[in-house]
Amino acid sequence: MTDEYDVVIAGAGAAGIAAGLRLAGSGLSFLIVEAAARVGGRAWTVKRDGMPLDLGCGWLHSGDRNPWTRVAGRIGAAIDRTPPAWGRQYRDLGFPPDAQRAAGAAYEAFHSRLRDDPPASDRAADALDPASPWNPYIDALSGYMNGVGLAHLSVADFLAYERADTNVNWRLPGGYGALIARAARELPILLDTCVTGIDRQAARLRVSTPRGVLSTRAVIVALPTPILARGDVALALDDKLHAASCLPLGLANKLFLAVDEAGDLPADGHLLGTPHRAETGSYYLRPFGRPVIEAFYGGSGAAALEDDGGRAMTAFAAEELSALFGSDFPKRLRPLAASGWGSAPLSCGSYSHALPGHADARRALAAPVEDRLFFAGEACSRDDFSTAHGAHATGTRAAEQALAALGSPAAA
Ligand SMILES: Cc1cc2nc3c(=O)[nH]c(=O)nc-3n(C[C@H](O)[C@H](O)[C@H](O)COP(=O)(O)OP(=O)(O)OC[C@H]3O[C@@H](n4cnc5c(N)ncnc54)[C@H](O)[C@@H]3O)c2cc1C
Repeated sequence: MTDEYDVVIAGAGAAGIAAGLRLAGSGLSFLIVEAAARVGGRAWTVKRDGMPLDLGCGWLHSGDRNPWTRVAGRIGAAIDRTPPAWGRQYRDLGFPPDAQRAAGAAYEAFHSRLRDDPPASDRAADALDPASPWNPYIDALSGYMNGVGLAHLSVADFLAYERADTNVNWRLPGGYGALIARAARELPILLDTCVTGIDRQAARLRVSTPRGVLSTRAVIVALPTPILARGDVALALDDKLHAASCLPLGLANKLFLAVDEAGDLPADGHLLGTPHRAETGSYYLRPFGRPVIEAFYGGSGAAALEDDGGRAMTAFAAEELSALFGSDFPKRLRPLAASGWGSAPLSCGSYSHALPGHADARRALAAPVEDRLFFAGEACSRDDFSTAHGAHATGTRAAEQALAALGSPAAA
């Protein structure tokens, strides 16, 4: 392995891999440096009982314009276009139709206020009706969508995402993480190697790792914001640290439960645990028709339940599901896999949100430095943030910026 490159990419998540895919075949030499022992970052498919389960991203959001949809087509990965079941309550269990209508109307009224009369504070919680009994329900939805409650959410940022979203949501039966890892197969990736610093003092950049120093003409930084904000990578760029700290990762976690004799449950059904508490779970029944329940916790619910191994999530799911299906139901459940993104040291969270008043931090984080240090990662997207397709777009953009800056390999 040489230690001189045209471009070094720090991080082999969806953004770093998309940057590599764009640079491949350009004639520029490049290397992706990844701290973990696997590629994909927050895109991670594990196999249990023969089933691919996505512990990170699962939905091809804005699937009709999502670049990973094109990648799936190119490499022959199947896409499931069944519309999502979120928002439906199987047999209206625990959430009668009149309550569903009232909760839906409360959300619509809240959303209209965000759009038409946003609070001067830019803090989403300030658009809640203090007298509404449905505020925990609205906060629960924010936990799933944003990984954080409304008190910490920028309205401008949230609305930017909504405007860009096409509301087309598809899935990959083989796994989103597996697709991204497959796309990366031919790329030059150095695993188990942490980038610890980027030195800009000389004509060539010097990228420090515990295995030695890489010399390069340009770097694409495709790392999660907490890694940057914490100063894990010495950049000597305070404005980047500040921007990253204004774009923390919220928390969402998943728990997969195998269900014995699952035939009495609907394929692709859905249940909200209870509409009366913000910490409640969202339960996807038999995704892809599999004998599984996929439990999803967001925001304060995810934070309260995260532990080593998913035991707290399993106990909580048993409690909420027994309230809906009867006290014998948990006997049919067996935990298969659980995520713990908050304590995962290389991400420290699930997806980014802007703090109130800081939607512009996305632009500040994404801005190139000296036309040789480029930034990618979902948090750098101004409207597709928090997603794998937003990460892809920022990785592609950073690679194109590097190509434009470096010109043809002959110019090196
Ligand atoms: C539970 C959950 C559900 C989600 N659901 C969806 C969904 O349905 N649809 C969707 O589109 N998105 C979803 N997302 C979000 C999506 O997974 C992320 O937005 C996307 O994968 C982020 O990609 P990224 O490349 O920006 O960052 P990451 O995937 O975090 O990649 C960064 C990489 O950098 C590495 N790294 C960290 N520090 C260093 C270092 N010092 N040196 C070298 N490497 C380092 C990390 O190991 C990682 O591989 C979900 C996420 C979670 C957690």
